[in-house]
Amino acid sequence: MGEDATRHVTLSSDRVPVVAEVDVAVIGGGSAGLAAAVAAARNGAETLLIERFSYVGGLATGGLIVLLLTMDDGNGNQTVGGLCQEIVDRMEQRDAVHYPPKNEWNDPEPKLVEHYRRWGLVWGGGPHRVRYSVAYQPQHFIFAADDMLRDAGVNVLYQTWACEPIVNDGTIEELVIQNKAGRQAIAAKTFIDATGDGDIFAAGGEEYELERVHPWLWFLMSGATGLEKALGSGKGFFFRAPGEGHALVPWGGEARAPRKIDATDPVETSEALAECRLMVREEAARLKEAVPGFESSYISLMADQLGITESRRLLGEYVLGRDDLNSSFDDVVARTGHWTKYDCVYNIPYRSLLPRKLDNLLVAGRCISVDHRAHHATKEIPPCMATGEAAGTAAALAASDGVSVKDINVVALQKRLRDRGAILE
Ligand SMILES: Cc1cc2nc3c(=O)[nH]c(=O)nc-3n(C[C@H](O)[C@H](O)[C@H](O)COP(=O)(O)OP(=O)(O)OC[C@H]3O[C@@H](n4cnc5c(N)ncnc54)[C@H](O)[C@@H]3O)c2cc1C
Repeated sequence: MGEDATRHVTLSSDRVPVVAEVDVAVIGGGSAGLAAAVAAARNGAETLLIERFSYVGGLATGGLIVLLLTMDDGNGNQTVGGLCQEIVDRMEQRDAVHYPPKNEWNDPEPKLVEHYRRWGLVWGGGPHRVRYSVAYQPQHFIFAADDMLRDAGVNVLYQTWACEPIVNDGTIEELVIQNKAGRQAIAAKTFIDATGDGDIFAAGGEEYELERVHPWLWFLMSGATGLEKALGSGKGFFFRAPGEGHALVPWGGEARAPRKIDATDPVETSEALAECRLMVREEAARLKEAVPGFESSYISLMADQLGITESRRLLGEYVLGRDDLNSSFDDVVARTGHWTKYDCVYNIPYRSLLPRKLDNLLVAGRCISVDHRAHHATKEIPPCMATGEAAGTAAALAASDGVSVKDINVVALQKRLRDRGAILE
């Protein structure tokens, strides 16, 4: 299997029905797409969300990356609010989170730092301080997201792949989708690419950079006893997870997965999935044997998709780079701290969500226009939600003002975002 096939078929020119015409179509229901869709709908746009799987959250739920890192600047100040804070509040009502209260943020007290490190909420080189980061249960992220989507009036089409944008004179006029009903198309004033891999901007002819990465496959072990002792034993790499006797095992990466893959290559990802699942079974067996208290433990949940830190990154109107650390921008629409560093912030300009060519496309989440170094910070779930919220709000503004997303009033966008709890300074 592969691209170099010598045999081809020619498809007849199908007539594909346009099954929806909306203000805003969000492609991909990960953390970024969720925020984009909810923000667009709450700001008055008729909104459709297209998701290939059966649930929202993407890596933040199905990928079992169940840690919001980080919502602060590493100096005790919150950097991400808005919809990300809202989902934390909603999960808290369901008793499904663990995180430090505000009076502990930035505290260097070693015992406190070690407590949160064992929950996976402190990373990088020291000297450490307590971060505002959040551990949560993935099913409650999905329940909270379902409520937010329903209450906002977003139409969601699950089990549907977005395939091909139909571009005419720099505008995406329709997007071809594929599901059990066959091939269909949707029309929208603005499309938001929140696919993580940038499927839509790539198919629409935008330029991008592509990174090959070592895959991950996180999993949850349950039934462990004496977890504190187990965590102190140094016999495995895992964290506490909300609920009794649950350990989150962040399996994969350079130390475990043998080779880098291109996450947009279906053959490479399929092989990696099979290989990683086999190695996860071996690691679970090893943990049962080696870690005190893990004797009766078992894999209770495994990521249903590979953990991919990076694939396509848009080369947009502005490429946010490592030198932009702590820089300010007139068109800032989101900001983020750095999960492994203290006292540093990336302000994310609106131009990093804008492609260079297409005039009715916005990009949100881990595939926005940043370089490899800035991506280390901007790919995290809180900034993905913040760029999603900015993109959705911008698309709704464009629809109500009858202008292209390239021509919206950015000051009005910033005001809308702030009014709804986003943090821009
Ligand atoms: C191993 C690993 C560890 C990480 N650790 C952390 C951490 O501790 N804390 C943290 O905050 N962040 C962490 N991250 C980063 C973070 O999890 C992701 O970058 C973030 O969740 C990406 O969100 P997203 O919405 O941009 O993309 P995704 O979550 O990938 O969502 C994309 C969505 O689009 C859908 N989709 C894709 N293509 C199509 C298509 N063509 N048609 C229809 N639907 C489509 C997918 O099904 C998915 O639901 C980690 C990432 C990895 C891989």
